[in-house]
Amino acid sequence: MTHFPPLEGFLAGRLEAALRKPAAQQPEWPDPRRARDAVAALSRAGPIVLPDETARLAGRLAAVARGEAFLLQGGDCAETFAGNTEAHQRGNLRTLDRMAAVLADRAGLPVVKIARMAGQYAKPRSQAVDALGLPVYRGDMINSAESTLVARTPAPERMLRAHACAVETMGLVRDFRRGGTDGDETYVSHEALLLDYERSQLWADTSGPEPRVSSGLGHFLWIGERTRQLDGAHLAFAELLSNPIGVKIGPATTPEQAVEYVRRLDPHGEPGRVTLVSRMGHSRVRDVLPPIVEKVTASGSQVIWQCDPMHGNTYLSANGYKTRRLHRMVDEITGFFEVHRQLGTHPGGIHVEVTGDDVTECLSRVPAVAEEDLPNRYETACDPRLNARQAMGLACSVAELVAAART
Ligand code: PEP
Ligand code: MN
Repeated sequence: MTHFPPLEGFLAGRLEAALRKPAAQQPEWPDPRRARDAVAALSRAGPIVLPDETARLAGRLAAVARGEAFLLQGGDCAETFAGNTEAHQRGNLRTLDRMAAVLADRAGLPVVKIARMAGQYAKPRSQAVDALGLPVYRGDMINSAESTLVARTPAPERMLRAHACAVETMGLVRDFRRGGTDGDETYVSHEALLLDYERSQLWADTSGPEPRVSSGLGHFLWIGERTRQLDGAHLAFAELLSNPIGVKIGPATTPEQAVEYVRRLDPHGEPGRVTLVSRMGHSRVRDVLPPIVEKVTASGSQVIWQCDPMHGNTYLSANGYKTRRLHRMVDEITGFFEVHRQLGTHPGGIHVEVTGDDVTECLSRVPAVAEEDLPNRYETACDPRLNARQAMGLACSVAELVAAART
């Protein structure tokens, strides 16, 4: 087993410099001393993942980047403390597993599974206050969704509870693999959003082409659409990590920005080190994605191209629910595959919000979920997820697309 030493000297200095840059989407902790205490307690709390596991994932992602495997990433939009039950988390793992099995069987490619799990407790938000004028809910790691000022006030001790939940969940993930049929490892990921949490479990990693920092909080971390500023703290932090990194790119992303992400995050040209997660919306993907793929490919870098068909297709239903239509998700993925076929690049994977629970959050014809059904089981803490049947429907469509792309 690999053991990495704590950060010191040069790497500790680079980390501090990265974290001094402007950071979007951070809470204002009401009492800085409490926040400092929580960060100190977190740094003693121990890792969620092990460096050997992360290194194995990096190897498998290199195969995805080379076109030899497919990446399936998914889970809740936001994990919650209340939802951190064995039944819920196992249900989500089972759904991911079944989707992977369909993809592997019908598409004939090995599937790399990454759960949005064991740390997905912080959410970026478009507004700072909600309709009632309360500070907005930012995820269970920061505040509570309940509509009172006390509940919405950021509480740094929540980071410790999130970490404890993540430890428990990682135990379930490891058990699940031991009991699973295919024996394939499931890796865990979350958005690296809340920097006070992200900075707490870092080691010096000198095994790669340059000294970097290994995060023990997740195998794979990604930077969201709202925190990908090139002069910001999140990018500077991601640049230091030795873990594989994702960057979400929305329709306003320019090809020049995409090339700059890759240049900054993958200066040594390691296949699969960077995953560019496009979330363009079904009506934009065919226009916006090609110049980005062309310019990044011309730069010589071997990134993973992953499609998030969820976040560009969200809208408010007539009866007031944030929702998404399954057929638009399939359309965005279809467009993503068309673009990669035209350009001769590998459509490397998908990134989805799914659960094993029988929720009614997204709309579909089969199974029949219409707008009037949304109130029945609308349970998400943030964005609408596909339920298990909808997730399988999506997986079948994607399997056909992957199989067709290989002919
Ligand atoms: C998410 O993945 O839940 C998310 C907020 O995505 P994005 O950063 O693409 O908006
Ligand atoms: Mn989401």
